[in-house]
Amino acid sequence: MGVIIMAKITSLQKKLEHKLPDVTFRRGDTFTWDHTSSCILYSPTHPSAAAFLLHEAGHASLSHSSYDSSVHLLTMERDAWQKAKEIGEELGITIDDSTIEDALDSYRDWLHARTTCPTCNATGIEKGKNRYLCLACSSTWTSNEARTCTLKRYINK
Ligand SMILES: [Zn+2]
Ligand SMILES: [Zn+2]
Repeated sequence: MGVIIMAKITSLQKKLEHKLPDVTFRRGDTFTWDHTSSCILYSPTHPSAAAFLLHEAGHASLSHSSYDSSVHLLTMERDAWQKAKEIGEELGITIDDSTIEDALDSYRDWLHARTTCPTCNATGIEKGKNRYLCLACSSTWTSNEARTCTLKRYINK
């Protein structure tokens, strides 16, 4: 079974390389699109490897670079999935809506976790890129950027 999946992923990578000739594909243990090196990192053994590889191809073909707010981040994720569906259709691969909803839910949960005040657990407001302020206790904190598109749910920073 594993061999068939690996063969499918390898053939998908070849098709995407043809479609996105400027992009370098690397295998690793997560899924990221790095616009500075124009490189897609993907995990071929992930249960939804094809869907997430298409998602990273979506980021790449939309030339996504950086974001300046949480709202923008979620918009980029949604756009990348929309593009992933289009690319998938061209290549005869259907992406499950539940895979997309799950991934977006994980992002929402992660966004919520990073806006939670580490001192009093109230919801803070975003003051700038990755900078937050709690209106209840005046704490300020920073949050890391999302480096991967396969975020686990309920990540607490
Ligand atoms: Zn607080
Ligand atoms: Zn993404």
